[in-house]
Amino acid sequence: MLNIQYEHTTQPKQKPDESSLGFGKYYTDHMFLMEHTEGVGWHDARIVPYQPIALDPAAMVLHYAMESFEGMKAYRLPDGSIQLFRPEKNAERMQNTNRRMCLPELPTEDFVQAVKALVQMDADWVPHAQGTSLYIRPFVIATEPHLGVRMAQTHKFIIICSPVGAYYSTGIDPVKIFVEDEYTRACPGGTGFTKCGGNYAASLISQVKAHELGYEQTLWLDGVSHRYVEEVGSMNCFFKIDGTIYTAPCTGTVLPGVTRMSCIELLKRWGFSVCEQPLAIADVMKASRDGKLEEVFGTGTAAVISPVGELRYENEIAKINEGKIGAVTQRLYDTITGIQWGTLPDDMGWTTPV
Ligand SMILES: *Cc1c(COP(=O)(O)O)cnc(C)c1O
Repeated sequence: MLNIQYEHTTQPKQKPDESSLGFGKYYTDHMFLMEHTEGVGWHDARIVPYQPIALDPAAMVLHYAMESFEGMKAYRLPDGSIQLFRPEKNAERMQNTNRRMCLPELPTEDFVQAVKALVQMDADWVPHAQGTSLYIRPFVIATEPHLGVRMAQTHKFIIICSPVGAYYSTGIDPVKIFVEDEYTRACPGGTGFTKCGGNYAASLISQVKAHELGYEQTLWLDGVSHRYVEEVGSMNCFFKIDGTIYTAPCTGTVLPGVTRMSCIELLKRWGFSVCEQPLAIADVMKASRDGKLEEVFGTGTAAVISPVGELRYENEIAKINEGKIGAVTQRLYDTITGIQWGTLPDDMGWTTPV
């Protein structure tokens, strides 16, 4: 149990219009902070007014990307109450990330307690309009001023929150995806399975390239042979080919998404065969030519499920389901969002009241 100190804001901000929230544009009135000191552990848990943080210019996070983060949401239910979706999965994933990044780990109970305490404090900021939610961003940074490369002796764990609308401005219309065969996101032995800022810094160039070519996101291939599909943008990726569902296995280069895990659990429950095996992009394009590429979609907390309407690999274009959302994609979307926003019963045991 954390002993959390509270400092309430004296200047509450004006809440943004719920019809134009966008993603990550507005921040709530408070933030959670906690310090880590080598030899002492985590200490000084507190919720304070949202404000800039002071960092020494030599803070190790600024030089060596010693940082990890999580992404999760709080949802407003029809009865006005608030819930989280599988928050202990985010806590466990941050532990795995931090172990790989040589950052201090947090116990699951403390992580979930901190998230709940902040969401309770800023409960008025959880929006009510359909499809909106409160995006929660926990992160750990190495704050010690030091220019030698080694583990840091001081860190901060911080949580900020942002009310968000639907992730894609076009709603759940299918997106056009460019298959990246030059740059790579992850390699065996690397940090692909972690949520760390460095992964994003290194992948931005491909997003810029995809945008220049008129595509919304990048589909990443494996970093060794550039043959197997791994992820789409910052989402996990699923393919329905001739009735079977394929997604890349989480063997180190793929981020183990909470939405991915939830889709797999639902699909198995519904009787689909789900194949977590490497899938070659050549086989995806062949399936498209044979008329067997039935559905493609990305999964992630921000977008929930994002159908893919078009894939471009080299000079070949695969149109999927005539650019419309597929039946399984729609069913997953309806079921997961129904459970998250409390319009469907949670018979999976996935939700936690705040
Ligand atoms: C966060 C993330 C995902 C999705 O994970 P969720 O837990 O479903 O939000 C997928 N891929 C990458 C690279 C990510 O950073």
